[in-house]
Amino acid sequence: MPLKMSDQSVILKNARIFDPQVKLDKVTDIQIRDGKIMDIGPAGAFKGKSIDCTGKIIVPGLMDMHVHLREPGHEHKETIRTGCNAAAAGGFTEICCMPNTSPPIDCRSDVEFIKERSAGHLVDVHPIPAVTVGMAGEKLTEMGDMVEAGAVGFSDDGRPVATAGLLRRAIEYAGMFGKPIIDHCEDPSLAQDGVMHEGRVSTALGMPGIPGIAEDIAVMRDILVAEYTGGTVHIAHVSSAGAVRLIREAKARGVRVTAETCPHYLVLTDEIIRQFDTFTKMNPPLRSETDQQALIGGLKDGTIDAIATDHAPHAYEDKECEFKEAAFGIVGLETALGIMWTHFIDKGILNLENLVRLMSVRPREILNLATNKIEKGAVANLTVIDPEAAWVVDSAAFESKSRNTPFQGWNLKGRAFGVMNRGRMIFPV
Ligand SMILES: [Zn+2]
Repeated sequence: MPLKMSDQSVILKNARIFDPQVKLDKVTDIQIRDGKIMDIGPAGAFKGKSIDCTGKIIVPGLMDMHVHLREPGHEHKETIRTGCNAAAAGGFTEICCMPNTSPPIDCRSDVEFIKERSAGHLVDVHPIPAVTVGMAGEKLTEMGDMVEAGAVGFSDDGRPVATAGLLRRAIEYAGMFGKPIIDHCEDPSLAQDGVMHEGRVSTALGMPGIPGIAEDIAVMRDILVAEYTGGTVHIAHVSSAGAVRLIREAKARGVRVTAETCPHYLVLTDEIIRQFDTFTKMNPPLRSETDQQALIGGLKDGTIDAIATDHAPHAYEDKECEFKEAAFGIVGLETALGIMWTHFIDKGILNLENLVRLMSVRPREILNLATNKIEKGAVANLTVIDPEAAWVVDSAAFESKSRNTPFQGWNLKGRAFGVMNRGRMIFPV
């Protein structure tokens, strides 16, 4: 079990300290007092608890900008506290939570509730409330009020912003507060009652499919509305090759569109659905090899800005049923870093700078939040990565209340050795 500490002074010794924001990459010590970075360099006579970080890499604290905490309404799947514990175990110091709770987060007091429930935890929780009241797709929420209380963006995630007209007004309104609209891009008339990607595998299995074009058309709509208004839209969980191409073209002509994808789209395809494991059912669905390669290309050239998990906890009974009947979504907070390290960093497909930008720097920039540079005087908001840690995913050991991962039993290399934020830390020492 990790030891939780809140020492006043601590030295992280002999780590590779890496922050592309300040062009920092050296092996040395980092001294922290009262939650702030006092110095970066040989610790000398500095008094405080010392943690040996030989062989470890310290990067700016990771942020997951797409998490479903199930409180209020479905606390048996996840609470704000258990979600924060899962985030810390996965190496995240900050998360954003989506509004599709029960009832949905759509007013100031709901935002305040989340801030209060998460206060005092190492992990900062940034609420992303609904675009429309009750997520009903009709009336815009009081965005200014909610930004004052801590909202960092707006989304009706789980479903798309209902109409282009509504999206236009939402982008204009949220833009007044410097916040993006985050859209779950899916045309309902094309997605219908699909349960997996529409293609060769869905045909073979006789399952209703969700075609890539259901995503592409919604992405195109959002791009055009962002372009027309001059405002900002962020595309959640990009999964299709078409979406990557459209976003790349839009960025090239200066449209203010940003995008995220999730680790599962990068290492799994619809081929795995042949096993009928409901832990491989999510929305958008796992797509084809072609889509997967397009996503990886998008990560490499910066078309895709961020990696988010779309952590979606579900109870045993939501998944222990026929594939067609099962709930959409998987948990991801405790496997994201290990999946990315094993399959992309260790293999040399992405480098450490890519990873830090995708999982720390760009999420903050997209949400217009202050940067978290590793420099003297800054708040010590840090993730310590052990790049050599070999481990096996064991969902029974998750801090999350839910176990719905498709990665159970996977051998991974690389995981969080510890996290630190505002004077709180969790280290396995
Ligand atoms: Zn979604």
